[in-house]
This record gives sequence, structure tokens and C-alpha cells, in this order.
Amino acid sequence: MVRPLVDSFGRQVLDLRVSVTDRCNFRCRYCMPEEDMHWLPRQEILTFEEIERVAHIFVDHFGLTSLRLTGGEPTARAHLPELVRRLAALPVELSITTNGSTLGRLAGPLAAAGLHRATVSLDSLRRDRFAEITGRDVLAQVLEGIDAAVSAGLAPVKVNAVMVRGFNDDEVVDLARFGRERGVEVRFIEFMPLDGAGEWSAERVVPAREVLERLSAVFPLVPFEQRGPQPAERFRYLDGAGTVGVVASVTRPFCEACDRARLTAEGALRSCLFSVRERDLRALLRGGAQDDEIAQAIEDEVASKWAGHAIGRVSFVRPARSMSQIGG
Ligand code: SAM
Ligand code: SF4
Repeated sequence: MVRPLVDSFGRQVLDLRVSVTDRCNFRCRYCMPEEDMHWLPRQEILTFEEIERVAHIFVDHFGLTSLRLTGGEPTARAHLPELVRRLAALPVELSITTNGSTLGRLAGPLAAAGLHRATVSLDSLRRDRFAEITGRDVLAQVLEGIDAAVSAGLAPVKVNAVMVRGFNDDEVVDLARFGRERGVEVRFIEFMPLDGAGEWSAERVVPAREVLERLSAVFPLVPFEQRGPQPAERFRYLDGAGTVGVVASVTRPFCEACDRARLTAEGALRSCLFSVRERDLRALLRGGAQDDEIAQAIEDEVASKWAGHAIGRVSFVRPARSMSQIGG
């Protein structure tokens, strides 16, 4: 019987983010250092069967409604369309967060396998800066990837842009214009203290409020909808040219409405991006546990979910894992 998966604050988990790999073909400076990354050995990564089983448990026991594939770079995982095909059999909204570099080739197969929506990360429209931020000179490929995702029928296609002071904060309006022209929603994300290099500082965060001020000076905005469990605060352009969003994870956290949990590539369940504890589901999966036992472990972990992260306060403890090791 389906029962709600709720924490001690009454928040229900309906959205699972599944990391399918900790590896990536990019080295975004706010995420992964160029060197000194220690990749998980292949045998430690959940197999497609194991991911499918956990997803089934979330749906069958707890009525999960949305499942997002992420990483690392999810498209770096071999045979990803096969995993999508398996998960598409579940009654969930199935999406992916990707750097877009392989979508030119993969958007069609992923859509054909049953993927519904895609979010593509794009932090700069300037070729040299894009290469500097990501460590790869492939801006054109990513732009083609976004077009390929739209052409393949993935809907909606959104763009995530992490704003880092002194890196790309002068591109707010250009990125928004790009979204308006391509018919994709751009979401400006605040830089979070989850970078692998540990170089985050509060001065590098571009507050969502500032992004909105800059945007509305050029393109007048109207609030689009109640925020709900979605992290993005969304707005409509007054002239009808689409929508735009900001994700104020640092300056205006949305923890009280959070409806998500995360599964790392090696099968650790995390109730929060910033959790300092997690539950090893792989040990249960590989140790012969029944579905009910795994469901109980999921419930116990979610029950322990804290009220929210404490970025900016003395009590904040940075998690041992960086963004790419959790699954953003
Ligand atoms: N590789 C895929 C991508 O880049 O879209 C998926 C994984 S990536 C970790 C997921 C999202 O996290 C991306 O939109 C990325 O820009 C964002 N991200 C990574 N490090 C971040 C940080 N320190 N603060 C805020 N967002 C970050
Ligand atoms: Fe790779 Fe995504 Fe991290 Fe960039 S943000 S290094 S693309 S995992």
C-alpha cells in the first residue's frame, strides 16, 4: 500500500534525484577541480537493475511522482537510454540535468526511450569564458545540444546558470535574452558551498535579488506562480516572451517546502543536499534485503531530515561530498 514518505516536519518526499555517475567530461570551476578527483570504482556504482529497484520502491511504497537523473554528468554513463527505458515504465515525470555536451547525439535516443524533460547547464555565452569556466572549449556543442533537446520533443527544456561573482555575473541579461529567443526558461542559481575545490566564499554569491533587479531593469517581470516545492522562484516576462527563474538556495532557502531526496551514484540515500549523514542502500540491495526492509530504511532516513541547511550561520557544516559526488 502506498504511504506518504514524510519527515518529522511534515514535508513529503515526492522527488528523487538519482546520480548515475560521479564522473564528468567537464571541470566547472564551481563544481570539480581539474585534478585530484577520485572516481568511484565501477563495481561501487549502482547497476541499472539496482537503480530501477530503488525507483520502484519509491514509487510503489511512497507514490514518488518525479525522478531526475543527474551526476557527475549523467550522459557519461554508458547506455543511458537503456536506463531511461527501464525507468520510463514507472508513472513518474522523468527528467535529466546535463551539461548538454552530448545532447546533439543523445537527445533523440533519450526522448525515444521515454525521457520527458531536460535541464541543461549553461553559464556563459562567450566562447572563451565558457571554456574558462568549464575547462572545455565546447560552447557550440552545448548550444547545439539545447536545440537538439527541443527538437527531440523534450519539454520543457530549461537552462541552469550558476552565477559566480567576477566570473559571469555580467551575463545575466545576455543569458535571459538567449532564453527568450530560444523559448527556454533560464534559471539563475546561487553559488553554493559544494565546490570540490573548497573555494566558495559568501562574496562570490550573486544574490537572486540582484539578478532580478538587473533583469527587470531590461525585461519587466511579473511573478508567475506560488513557489510551492520547486526551488525556483519563477517570473513571466511582461511582454509575453516566456518565463525565467531564480534559485536562491543561499540567500532565501526553500528548505521548509523541500520535497526531494537524493541517491548518490554508489547508492547512499541523502535527505538533503547538505546532509552530513546518509544511508547506505547499496549494502541492503546487495545484502539480500527484501523491498519492505529497504523501504523501511528509506523511511528512517527521511524521518531524520533536518529543518534546513545553515549556510551563513556558525552552525553550518560543509558536507564531506561535493556537488558532483552527491548529484545536483
Ligand atoms: N553535469 C550535469 C550538469 O552540469 O548539469 C549534472 C550535475 S551538476 C552537479 C547539477 C547542477 O549543479 C548543475 O546545474 C550545476 O551548474 C550545479 N552546480 C554544480 N556545482 C554547484 C555549486 N557549487 N553551486 C551551485 N550549483 C552548482
Ligand atoms: Fe560536470 Fe555538471 Fe559539475 Fe560541470 S557542474 S563539472 S558539468 S558535474
